[in-house]
Amino acid sequence: MAAKQVKKSTPSRSAEWNPWHGCHKYSAGCLNCYVYRIDGRHQRDASIVQKTSGFYLPISHARDGSYRIPSGSMIWTCFTSDFLLEDADGWRSEAWRMIRERADCHFLFITKRIVRLEQCLPCDWGDGYRNVTICCTVENQAAANERLPVFREAKITHKIIVCEPLLERLDLSPFLGSWVDNVSVGGESGESARTCDYDWVLDIRSQCIAANVPFHFRQTGANFVKDRKHYRIPRKLQHSQARKANINTRSAARKATEAVDQDSGVYSET
Ligand code: SF4
Repeated sequence: MAAKQVKKSTPSRSAEWNPWHGCHKYSAGCLNCYVYRIDGRHQRDASIVQKTSGFYLPISHARDGSYRIPSGSMIWTCFTSDFLLEDADGWRSEAWRMIRERADCHFLFITKRIVRLEQCLPCDWGDGYRNVTICCTVENQAAANERLPVFREAKITHKIIVCEPLLERLDLSPFLGSWVDNVSVGGESGESARTCDYDWVLDIRSQCIAANVPFHFRQTGANFVKDRKHYRIPRKLQHSQARKANINTRSAARKATEAVDQDSGVYSET
């Protein structure tokens, strides 16, 4: 899927839809999961997975009969859980039905569980719903080696690789190719954030350039190393500092992923 096509289909309106809430820690990237952090502040147990009151949001109507989420919206989906979580297996077919009904909107979700995709797809998925982007997170080399071969072969119309939180130097070069729309990279946020080294970021950028894949440096994270110096970056500056680095390639990738920064308050390390 070419980046241009992502740009074309990136709508200006956006909404967030969390059909279920809660998750289980799954791999190294989950250590400081923001869902656990935020729920912990409110004395909630993030490991309890529940359908939310907003489950039917995409097909709910306003008083005038129109959809509450306007046609043409980008709908950031399942940012307080993982769309492919086992606990949601009984609810997902209804979620797919809503996604199908709202073919006039675009849905994007991020998952660490791409290995479960096949068993989670609806019968009429075909080569992938055209209005769905799936992002696969790879936070370390082990995750990349396990998930990217599966992701590459999966029938999905729009695919993004998310290296966030980036925990070590990654070699993505065996996997990159025209099948992926772009690669998005970022550090970890929060008090206990692990270090993200700018050299690792630049290394992935070089691999993307070599493979002709758009690259986006989304955020520095809270603990950033550049030229062997450690920086503690406040949350409010993590995205702008990454933008200042001015190392993104191709405006389509930048536009698609910056929209996430601006429009989704919780998008982080899912
Ligand atoms: S980081 Fe994502 S996959 Fe991991 S526990 Fe949190 S929501 Fe679930």
